[in-house]
Amino acid sequence: MIAGSQRWSPWAACGLYAPRRIGLNRPVSTDRDTIFALSSGRLPAAIAVVRISGPHAGDALKELTGRLPAPRRAMLAKVRDPASGEIIDEALALWFPGPHSETGEDVAEIQLHGGKAVVNATIAALGRSMKCSKYLRPAEAGEFTRRAFENGRLDLTAVEGLADLIGAETEAQRRQAYRQLKGLLGQRAESWRQRLTGALALVEARIDFSDEADVPEDLLGPALAVARELRGEIAGALADAARGERLRDGLIVAIAGPPNAGKSTLLNRIARRDAAIVSPIPGTTRDVIEVHLDLDGYPVTVLDTAGIRDSADPIEQEGVRRARERAKDADLVLWLADVTENMPGNEGAGQFEGQHVWLVQNKIDIANSQYSNNRNPKLSNIVFYISAQTGEGVNSLITRIAQFAAEYFGSEPKLLTRERHRLALQSAGAALDRASAEGTAGREDIVAEELRLAARALGRLTGRVDVEDILDVIFRDFCIGK
Ligand code: GDP
Repeated sequence: MIAGSQRWSPWAACGLYAPRRIGLNRPVSTDRDTIFALSSGRLPAAIAVVRISGPHAGDALKELTGRLPAPRRAMLAKVRDPASGEIIDEALALWFPGPHSETGEDVAEIQLHGGKAVVNATIAALGRSMKCSKYLRPAEAGEFTRRAFENGRLDLTAVEGLADLIGAETEAQRRQAYRQLKGLLGQRAESWRQRLTGALALVEARIDFSDEADVPEDLLGPALAVARELRGEIAGALADAARGERLRDGLIVAIAGPPNAGKSTLLNRIARRDAAIVSPIPGTTRDVIEVHLDLDGYPVTVLDTAGIRDSADPIEQEGVRRARERAKDADLVLWLADVTENMPGNEGAGQFEGQHVWLVQNKIDIANSQYSNNRNPKLSNIVFYISAQTGEGVNSLITRIAQFAAEYFGSEPKLLTRERHRLALQSAGAALDRASAEGTAGREDIVAEELRLAARALGRLTGRVDVEDILDVIFRDFCIGK
């Protein structure tokens, strides 16, 4: 149906397909295909945006709407099928000539009424275009953004920021993603790289012109001073890395405790929906169930772990193993105890040594007179008394978790948000450490090489050098049309 396309559906736009690998292995060339896709979300909708990018974007738009709008001005236009001349819809057309467009190429956008048939007919019409259908093809997932990267409109950290902005579910995530998109890390990495290049030039001058009288003896000293200064800044960024990464995934709060303490009931209460199975028979929560919450803008994932206890049942043992594994990673453990049972099983909380553990005494609705002495200061000096069943005390528990999240993430923007960033900076930092050590021993050649390695690691971070191998991994998080 569409020239040059395989099986393709216009519904394969943002949010409608699971992200997939794009496997784009074509060499970059100036006579590239012109690509098009539905760039807006699920249909039907009020408006649907079809985007076209590439050297023939202008021709394609002209064929459908009769003329090109003035650059960056909206034009009301009738969209026609070029083969039959039939009007498909009345739409807004926009024209962004390259290189000042999102992809850096010529880009056209058609804002249609968001009906399935309207979009289908428009997409089909692009395929039937008389003049340029042979240059046109449907875009692959992330291909618009990939072109923006290849044309130098976005560096890799900004591409990641864009993916995160699209995926952001809470305010704090949105802020962090937006800062990345706008170059928080990219610009810092680039300025580090430039300072390193300056330091490297000093060392190279020392090596190349060491025989000449007017080259100062000590060029190595200032170069190493720069390297040490950079090392300090990189160490500072690395110290905060875990929090930036956590903000993408969510703070992990595990509800743990003996079977039947009311963990599933509490999770349901927190989630305000039936996310976990609640049962009066001990040991029924066999797997780890999680809910994602937005607490005052911070993403928090609450896990209900299977009743942690010794069991002979192999399925239950597996549940217990998984529960322990997840709870070990948690930023906060809520150790839930049945207040009526005078703390049997509470010793189990000892396994979370070194983690934040709060003791939560549950079922106060049936033990109102008994619970006041039921404390275990060794376990945690933070104790809550709640009824997961009636909801009493649960709101103040949630408020405290939100405060904990706010303190954990802090208000300082985080430079590093992904493992990839951390690894790149660790490798730059290690090279700088080696450069310092070799400098002390006066081995200028090796110092130069280590500075080069450090600069390369920073270049990989922004995508300036050597990144072909990681591009597919980064762009596969995108959907078609982005
Ligand atoms: P889990 O094994 O820790 O996940 O415990 P469940 O959430 O399955 O709860 C075990 C039993 O305790 C169920 O019968 C719940 O209805 C009951 N239960 C849970 N929380 C409360 C509570 O606050 N008050 C009372 N009275 N019963 C509760």
